Amino acid sequence: MVLRVLGCSGGIGGESGTTSFLIDRDILMDAGTGVGGMSLSELAAIRHIFLTHPHLDHIACLPLLLDSAVCMRDHPLTIWGTEETVEILKSHIFNWKIWPDFTVIPSTQFPAMQYRTLSLGTTIVLDGRGITAVPANHTVSAVGYHLDSGVASLVFSGDTTTNDTFWDVVNGIKNLRHLIMETTFSDSRRDLATVSKHLCPSLLVEELGKLKGNPEIHISHLKPGEKERITREITDGLHRFHPRMLCMGQEIDF
Ligand SMILES: [Zn+2]
Ligand SMILES: [Zn+2]
Repeated sequence: MVLRVLGCSGGIGGESGTTSFLIDRDILMDAGTGVGGMSLSELAAIRHIFLTHPHLDHIACLPLLLDSAVCMRDHPLTIWGTEETVEILKSHIFNWKIWPDFTVIPSTQFPAMQYRTLSLGTTIVLDGRGITAVPANHTVSAVGYHLDSGVASLVFSGDTTTNDTFWDVVNGIKNLRHLIMETTFSDSRRDLATVSKHLCPSLLVEELGKLKGNPEIHISHLKPGEKERITREITDGLHRFHPRMLCMGQEIDF
């Protein structure tokens, strides 16, 4: 599997858009503003979108990408999320007020999208690629994802704060090669990180202390206004983990 970073920022205004990863050519993981740089043919090739949670920075481009390539698809796009995430999309986005309900247009027989709910620990297998929701601890129903190519695994934390159940799952993955962790705020805003259920570098150090294996660590979701400060704090505080900042356009093979 190849993961291409379309966006990995915690906001707009930097050189990267907000969270979205393209897996091979047909799967999106979140649909933040990073999707905006994709070509029409790339958009048309997407068949599945796995959402970590319904916050705007992770779904901002979902309504627009559905509409852009609707006439170029001969199949409905499948939107995967927890039951609560799907309910929030139905009630608050695809409600005919913010955007049309694409599960019934162009027609109920051939709709542009369909919802599928998933639950923690249940693996969805798409052409031999395993995708499993893993626990996250955020202000709304949220998950991370474990992607398993059969050769190696990558785990994406999604938006989360401290969470022992996440590490129980991660430490059980035998072929774990890559771990993408969010770090949203600098340590000067540790209180805000706690109340908004995100991580800051000092919380990330505590979390990574629970990791048993030795995967490559990648950091995402930095607030653009604090990017340099967070990067410095991570470089200083986490050097034993050799973390790398995820960047737009980066590809991870596993
Ligand atoms: Zn969030
Ligand atoms: Zn976010």
